[in-house]
Amino acid sequence: MEYQTILDRIHAAVKPIIGTGKVASYIPELAKVSPDQFGIAIVDLEGKVYQAGAADTPFSIQSISKLFGLTLAFHLEGDSVWSRVGREPSGSPFNSLVQLEYERGKPRNPFINAGALVVTDMLLTHHAARGGAENALIRFIRKLGNKDDIGFDRAVAQSELRTAHRNTAMANFMKSFGNLNNDVEDVIEAYCRNCAIEMNCVDLARAVTFLANRGVVPWSGEKILDEGAAKRINALMLTCGTYDAAGDFAFRVGLPAKSGVGGGIVALIPGECGICVWSPALETSGNSYAGSIALEMLTSISGRSIF
Ligand code: GLU
Repeated sequence: MEYQTILDRIHAAVKPIIGTGKVASYIPELAKVSPDQFGIAIVDLEGKVYQAGAADTPFSIQSISKLFGLTLAFHLEGDSVWSRVGREPSGSPFNSLVQLEYERGKPRNPFINAGALVVTDMLLTHHAARGGAENALIRFIRKLGNKDDIGFDRAVAQSELRTAHRNTAMANFMKSFGNLNNDVEDVIEAYCRNCAIEMNCVDLARAVTFLANRGVVPWSGEKILDEGAAKRINALMLTCGTYDAAGDFAFRVGLPAKSGVGGGIVALIPGECGICVWSPALETSGNSYAGSIALEMLTSISGRSIF
């Protein structure tokens, strides 16, 4: 597939709409990011990189970290993950509290904030028992992305920590239902640090190629998940990965994807490649506006999707 030509064409086509929407401002540090940026990258299973725009510019991965957190928890704990978190689209905003009350502290899915807090709690318990809970997720992502210098932005983590009132409320609420084993403060701190991980489009596209390759990291041959588990993560990305717009996103793009309020969206074409697009201005559900349109163009022009 001539992906370079396609990416160049997409980059030219989206230029007039880059900046449409709003940069996330409820985390003060993210409000400082310029909306006028756009990057896109594809990494195929042979490791070949195609890119356009600011694909090497690092950005805050935010909720994309939930995809890696879930993968690590699934890798470590297997199906017992589902006793504490569901796998249905929420139909509510990613930081909604009401649903948690109806469902007695069991979050709808691992990609809303409440679900990711439970997953973070699982990872803390697992790694604390072995020493080194600190940065366990970063070490995992470095392995997936084949890059040693992936880290997190302290200013973003601190900014999020200082304003984490709603996430803290959710964590306390789940703790009251017995669905959090560690201290709320520890879970929130680890969660904020994970959301503040910084990566660029090329790194992220590379880091998700294992999901396009039946759970095996293409360049190292390491099996992260078995084929069935990789299929399940992809299914969750399709149904729950793009906030409350997942139905529309599946309709328009037709690929498993996970977005973050930093403006990044990762996606993949099974058997072919990992993809990442980034543009910080968001539509009302929290997905990158220009990024969503770029992905829609990618599947329309290439004729590739999972359907
Ligand atoms: N750190 C953000 C929060 O907890 C993540 C939101 C997102 O990217 O969806 O609100």
